[in-house]
Amino acid sequence: MPLFFCDCTRRDLLGEDDPCCVRDCRRRHCDPQNSALRADLTVLAACAITDRSLGKLAFEPQIQRDVVVRRRDGLYSYQLACVIDDADQGITDVVRGADLLPSTRWQLALQQALELERPSYLHLPLVVEADGRKLAKSRHAAAIEPQFAVQQLRQALGWLKQETPPAECNSTAAILDWALSRWDPARFAGVETVS
Ligand SMILES: [Zn+2]
Repeated sequence: MPLFFCDCTRRDLLGEDDPCCVRDCRRRHCDPQNSALRADLTVLAACAITDRSLGKLAFEPQIQRDVVVRRRDGLYSYQLACVIDDADQGITDVVRGADLLPSTRWQLALQQALELERPSYLHLPLVVEADGRKLAKSRHAAAIEPQFAVQQLRQALGWLKQETPPAECNSTAAILDWALSRWDPARFAGVETVS
């Protein structure tokens, strides 16, 4: 897969979630000392997976044209590290928050380029703050209280549109046992986020 140096700055890429090169660096011969290294994904075929909750997720090389594989500061990128680590550890099922959904298309591309085994994916809806931001200790998000674990498990299952455990399930073990046998990711496909 072709690689090229890209010296687009954060300012150039402003407003993009997972930005592609915007300054035609493929042809500009940027200074390697002051550039990120990008993989040119336009040489790959389009591909798609079926997320266990969200349905079809596609990688389209005309939209996801390139991705950083080594950052300007010399560190390998999250996207590359993630696909290498998953393959190295023999991961078969990736279950993670929907905040990582934008990464999935890049990871599909890199798996294809590196001819790696592709795991199955399930992206879970997020519980967020009222302003839409992710819960974080650094922002003093409310902690889960162990003494309310039963109620909180019931609440989480409700948010995920899973069946409500009967009243006689009154311990975390009983609720988890009950919920596991009825766990249906298709039911939370319509859940965006919960605040
Ligand atoms: Zn660039």
